[in-house]
Amino acid sequence: MEIVTRFAPSPNGPLHLGHAFAAIVAHDRAREAGGRFLLRIEDIDGPRSRPELADTFRRDLEWLGLEWEEVPAQSTRLDSYEAAASRLRDKGLLYPCTCTRREIAAAATREGPEGPVYPGTCKGRTVDPTLPAALRLDVEKALALTGELRWYDEIAGEQRADPAAGGDPVIVRKDLPASYHLAATLDDAADGVTVVTRGLDLFAATHVHRLLQALLDLPVPRWHHHRLLLDEEGRKLSKRRGSPALSDRREAGEDGLMLARQLRLQHLQAGT
Ligand code: GLU
Repeated sequence: MEIVTRFAPSPNGPLHLGHAFAAIVAHDRAREAGGRFLLRIEDIDGPRSRPELADTFRRDLEWLGLEWEEVPAQSTRLDSYEAAASRLRDKGLLYPCTCTRREIAAAATREGPEGPVYPGTCKGRTVDPTLPAALRLDVEKALALTGELRWYDEIAGEQRADPAAGGDPVIVRKDLPASYHLAATLDDAADGVTVVTRGLDLFAATHVHRLLQALLDLPVPRWHHHRLLLDEEGRKLSKRRGSPALSDRREAGEDGLMLARQLRLQHLQAGT
């Protein structure tokens, strides 16, 4: 099997150290196996997306000494998202949901891996067609079609898919023709990605992606969820919490190759 990995940043804000780590893990996983490393810009996040950042991302990756093949950005693939959403709708697996974040938090009775679990409020109910609605996947109905599913993580090993843990996921957002789950799953298949590398914070999302693959007859890759770089207080790095942008470090004259070496060392030491 040819190893094809990808780095898929969203141009919502600058890349920081955590992104550099993710890009290097993906890059090296492919290179060590003589495979291909892809860059995909995930630019469908409407008002938050700043397309001009994509160029900065490319310069940041170059500065780290990485080489890649770039595949089309998500904004050019909206038709494929719409076609897949129609297929799911035709199978009767999607239902409209008008709940706001606040309503979900108030109605939830349990916390899932990504916060309050949507309790299925809009399932089976007629929603006001004048309100903006997201489309959610009826996971119970979907699993009845697919049966039990498994997936394989290169670090954590064999997994039984548990897509219900986070509640019925949004497949089409109120404001966009796809959610992250649908877009990333379709794109990884279209790009021929065979090992999906990404941070452990997205481990739970993979259960949903595995279900979408089964429903949409997509090939099933392997996954490689790597640990996250944390700040001194053990929190995920982010620009907001003061992790400087790679572009600022680059412009300040820091040596990107040296930084990449340090990150590789950390990766080796962690064993993931
Ligand atoms: N665009 C997503 C992000 O920046 C990619 C996540 C993934 O690798 O699937 O978090």
